[in-house]
Amino acid sequence: MTADAVEGVAVAVVGGGAAGILAAIRLLDVLGAADRVEVVEPQGLLGAGIAFATDDPHHLLNIPAMMMSAYEDQPEHFASYLSQQGKGTATTFAPRFVYGEYLRATLARAVQSSAAAFTHRQQTAVRLQPGTGGDGVAIELDNGETVSTDFAVLAVGWGSPNPVRAPSRQVAIKPWSREGDLAISRYAGASQPIVVIGTGLSAADIVGTLARQGCTSIVAVSPSGTFPAAHPASLQWPDTGPTVARIAEASRASDLIHRTRAACAGGEQWQRVIDGLRGYLPAVWNNMSEVERARLVRHVLPVWEKLRHRMPPHTTRTIAELQANDTLSILRGRVTEHDAGRLVVETPSGPKTLNPVLTIDCTGWSRDPRRMGRGLISQLIDDGFATAHGPAIDLTADGRVAGPLHTRLWATGLLIGDQVWENSGVALLRRQAARVADSLREAAHAEGAR
Ligand SMILES: Cc1cc2nc3c(=O)[nH]c(=O)nc-3n(C[C@H](O)[C@H](O)[C@H](O)COP(=O)(O)OP(=O)(O)OC[C@H]3O[C@@H](n4cnc5c(N)ncnc54)[C@H](O)[C@@H]3O)c2cc1C
Repeated sequence: MTADAVEGVAVAVVGGGAAGILAAIRLLDVLGAADRVEVVEPQGLLGAGIAFATDDPHHLLNIPAMMMSAYEDQPEHFASYLSQQGKGTATTFAPRFVYGEYLRATLARAVQSSAAAFTHRQQTAVRLQPGTGGDGVAIELDNGETVSTDFAVLAVGWGSPNPVRAPSRQVAIKPWSREGDLAISRYAGASQPIVVIGTGLSAADIVGTLARQGCTSIVAVSPSGTFPAAHPASLQWPDTGPTVARIAEASRASDLIHRTRAACAGGEQWQRVIDGLRGYLPAVWNNMSEVERARLVRHVLPVWEKLRHRMPPHTTRTIAELQANDTLSILRGRVTEHDAGRLVVETPSGPKTLNPVLTIDCTGWSRDPRRMGRGLISQLIDDGFATAHGPAIDLTADGRVAGPLHTRLWATGLLIGDQVWENSGVALLRRQAARVADSLREAAHAEGAR
């Protein structure tokens, strides 16, 4: 417990994926005796969420352990955990489920060393509104019970996969869901074509899974027609020094590109520069006018996504081998029709028709806030307690949900959307978690919490 810890505060964290657990860990650190942190999460395993729930040891973190610590100021925290467990070192790309284990172990230690109480309520939150008499927050659960709390943190993630943007009677199967796992195992050993839409990191994992299950004809379709770049053979810590700080001072999108190119031309490993810049993204975003932000999203984001998403060496090798032995082919183009198992792909050389036995949609998740949190966010907006513009709910500068509940309600994780340009990696989630805990502690002090 820190010296200026507050007393007698109840906080509910809605959503127990990585963002929710990182926030709970930081909250336990700043709260004290008679305080309570309650995580509302329907999954039995905390810290799993979408990303770290897979139990396939071939589904690896796409970032080395050196960049996955739960604490920004203790970069070796996760690497030390791995080495204590005999599971790796700072340069290991660990299985994703191991990261879920790490989050749970870190939470357990935070619970042990905090005087505050911790509980996991294994339910889904269905409605959130002011508490009785306008005091605190009341969270209705799907079992009919209500959690009454002083403050709440929304960490519900994106939640729903992105629908393929094409007319469709047959919806493609999404990965990282029970439905997806069942479909993939049903077609184990298939020699007929299976289409994977997308060539991002999820697509790479799913292609590997299909091949390991004996599927021999996999077609990956995407407009770029390329899988992400590989990590460099010699992994280095991200550059967070003056070079990257100078890049981050750019107030125009074109200047950002210019400064980044200049830094890389000066001999810096480009991966170090990009990785270092990730920590500065909120600052970069805040430096820019609305016009420049739009330019950033339109011109820089697509390139950024390719550069910052990198495949672990094992996955890179797998993709190369599958292409070499003709198990995997890549089709550059955009799906324009997807109907009852028939796909039309608009390629540079004209339309091409595919008739796969199975289509797996790896194009990502919906950014519509109304689709997040299994109805909770939609309800919050309809009840007038939150607003949304584009892909994010509206927040104040310190991470509170703008609106009538801003003294009581914070948000973190994927739900924040593009408000900070790019926020899906642990490096940013842990920073948001610290910000939420600090801001919430200040709010509790300000109102002289019991
Ligand atoms: C396949 C994949 C691999 C990734 N790999 C990496 C990586 O290697 N390194 C990295 O830094 N980042 C990685 N990421 C990105 C990022 O770290 C994760 O997406 C991150 O785990 C997001 O956490 P989250 O808690 O915001 O969302 P989620 O993981 O979606 O968790 C949200 C949680 O909220 C719960 N929930 C939703 N609605 C409600 C409700 N109404 N009531 C209660 N609970 C609710 C859900 O059950 C879920 O557990 C990866 C992402 C994916 C998808």
